Amino acid sequence: STSNLAQIGVTGLAVMGSNLARNLARHGYTVALHNRSIAKTDALLENHGDEGTFIRTESMADFVAALERPRRALIMVKAGDATDSVIEELADLMEPGDVIIDGGNSLYTDTIRREAAMSKRGLNFVGTGISGGEEGALNGPSIMPGGPAEAYESLGPLLESISAHVDGTPCCTHIGPNGSGHFVKMVHNGIEYADMQLIGEAYDLMRKALTMSTDEIADVFRQWNSGDLESYLVEITAEVLAQKDAETGKPLIDVIVDEAGQKGTGRWTVKSALDLGIPTTGIAEAVFARALSSSRDQRTAARDLASGKLAGAPTDRDRFVADINAALYASKVVAYAQGFDQIRAGSAEYDWNVDPGALATIWRGGCIIRAKFLNRIVDAYRDDPDLPSLLLAPYFREAVSAGLDSWRRVVATASTMGIPVPAFASSLSYYDGLRAERLPAALTQGLRDFFGAHTYKRVDKPGSFHTLWGEQT
Ligand code: NAP
Repeated sequence: STSNLAQIGVTGLAVMGSNLARNLARHGYTVALHNRSIAKTDALLENHGDEGTFIRTESMADFVAALERPRRALIMVKAGDATDSVIEELADLMEPGDVIIDGGNSLYTDTIRREAAMSKRGLNFVGTGISGGEEGALNGPSIMPGGPAEAYESLGPLLESISAHVDGTPCCTHIGPNGSGHFVKMVHNGIEYADMQLIGEAYDLMRKALTMSTDEIADVFRQWNSGDLESYLVEITAEVLAQKDAETGKPLIDVIVDEAGQKGTGRWTVKSALDLGIPTTGIAEAVFARALSSSRDQRTAARDLASGKLAGAPTDRDRFVADINAALYASKVVAYAQGFDQIRAGSAEYDWNVDPGALATIWRGGCIIRAKFLNRIVDAYRDDPDLPSLLLAPYFREAVSAGLDSWRRVVATASTMGIPVPAFASSLSYYDGLRAERLPAALTQGLRDFFGAHTYKRVDKPGSFHTLWGEQT
């Protein structure tokens, strides 16, 4: 740059922040560096200072003074209170027109609140989702920035240049106002939960129903990764399953405790789905499956519960593996369909005007849920932006229909063999519920009217009706 100022600054130089700072510097931007404690700043400069032009700063005042105007400061600190205090510190030092970017995993309602507060002070606040973990941050993440459109005009080209690219298209686009970027990142993480749970169920069935070895299962995932299921998560599943424990020589998967942790974005997605009234059942099952896995005391106490008489294993192993593939694909379509329903509902609730096709486009690369399949979602929304459900897009309608018998066989077999498949089973029930001509909700309405005079509607005329139950009419 011609001045000695930085085009962007990064404050918070843990894994994500330092990798993003390096990514920016490698793209030719001068990057001001700041961290609460100087050690991380100096470690970055010592190990990677030669990768580009960095400006080392110690105080927040020096950091802000090192930025060219309008100033652009990217915050990559712990989500929550830490982010609030860093925003305050920055805002006190900045001037109208400057841009504060929060790239952490912030809750979208916090982002809405922060954007409103900054906007009152004349500052542009950009809450942005960033996916791809450490590796993505360094080599090209998927970036989901929300906030004022004016801020994106100056910031967009910079973010787009450091994002992943697929077929020459950056995996970064302006999502919409205030909390929209963090909202879609939250649902992205929810879909990631569902995707991982579905993959886990597929693995468990091969292991328990077909008694396949971890190496054999790794091979299956490797093969699947060259078909319709091609995706980052399927690819790394093969690697995780093939890994041997250095200490015992056993498959590493067998020495890992079977209790899944969570940092909260899946739970946020489900809470939001409940508030919006959207049946995001695949993600909910995935979050609850992690909770069940971690209920160690209950699981230990329940180990001797009866199984009942269990059916034998499927006789045709290859056919059942193909069935599992179809069940995984169909359930994955359901998880995405539900996630996009939630995004549409959130967008309507907050007036964000999120473009689902543009979102699918930027999820094709960089992020954890990147998958070949997202091209089909892009096509679906291009052909019909008002698609009532992804399941109704011609391609997905056909693909799910082709695998339906397999999907049912997998759920039925799992049930008769006593193998839990909460996400496969609930996705299939969702599908059957969605396409049902009549649902037992009529009975629910009858019951509600019986005990609470909540009234019901009739199929043959308009209006609300209440019955004097038990009286002859
Ligand atoms: P992190 O462990 O979440 O946070 C550590 C950083 O926050 C350090 O730089 C630390 O500074 C700073 N910090 C903590 N409390 C602070 C406070 N009160 N005031 C100022 N600075 C404070 O780091 P991370 O894993 O790199 O993640 C950064 C953000 O990106 C988080 O919001 C995270 O959720 C999000 N994210 C992470 C990933 C991932 O794969 N890890 C992916 C996407 C998004 P000190 O060095 O002084 O302690």
